[in-house]
Amino acid sequence: METNSCNGPANVGFKIPERVSRESRLDSTLVNVAGVEVGGLDVVIIAGPCAVESEEQLFDTARAVKRDGARILRGGAFKPRSSPYSFQGMGEDGLKLLSSVRAETGMPVVTEVMDTRQVDLIGEYADMLQVGSRNMQNYPLLKEVGLSRKPVLLKRGMMATIEEFLLAAEYILSQGNENVILCERGIRTFETTTRNTLDLSAIPMLKRLTHLPVIVDPSHGTGIRWMVPAMAKAAIAAGADGLIMEVHYRPDEALCDGYQSLDLDLFKTLMADLKRIAEAVDRKMS
Ligand code: PEP
Ligand code: MN
Repeated sequence: METNSCNGPANVGFKIPERVSRESRLDSTLVNVAGVEVGGLDVVIIAGPCAVESEEQLFDTARAVKRDGARILRGGAFKPRSSPYSFQGMGEDGLKLLSSVRAETGMPVVTEVMDTRQVDLIGEYADMLQVGSRNMQNYPLLKEVGLSRKPVLLKRGMMATIEEFLLAAEYILSQGNENVILCERGIRTFETTTRNTLDLSAIPMLKRLTHLPVIVDPSHGTGIRWMVPAMAKAAIAAGADGLIMEVHYRPDEALCDGYQSLDLDLFKTLMADLKRIAEAVDRKMS
């Protein structure tokens, strides 16, 4: 049998972990994030600031992205910063703001969990737990979110192969939590003009190997605001089930990742373009 045709088993040179493997399921997995389904026909846009900074910043940004079609709100309350002297996030106060903006807008929220000891607390406020790149191989954390029943947004480690990425997801599924969304967010290469090298080839590869939904983060994937729209469009054209993007009502004043955050006007324009791309590849954006 031919092994690398479009329909046959993919010949990738490693054993695809059992639970995440496409072979283990007939249908693609739909992850339900408090009523928003990811992995179906709809391309789902997750948008919001890198970090929750204040009530005004979060509410103004959230209202705008919702109006323009974002379905899920992002915002970090606990931030993994390279420097211990950089803004570390608002902590539980940030979680409280996320839950009040959800109450007003009706948008489910996703926020990062960095430590096993935070899973219960963050689970009380968030609709989806984000495991960031730096923690993709934090196995105790993967097991802990696997024991939770919240959906998990698992970001690819910046040095992780596709095999390692799938094995990390397998950790979560092996604990009984099958609500995992994979996120390609760029990997480290020799290239320095961009913050990371966004591996768009990971989209068709992951879609082929696993039944889990695959989304893309063009903000961290490039690190450059003006590049985000091009890569967002390319990701949808390549088959991504959604995007997660950083948007800030005043990017130049952001405490974290402002240089890669879209402002509200850019986001609005991009959303109109994305809708057309989604339709061109037989998807929808509602
Ligand atoms: C983030 O989404 O804010 C983040 C820190 O992303 P990553 O883990 O991909 O660097
Ligand atoms: Mn960020």
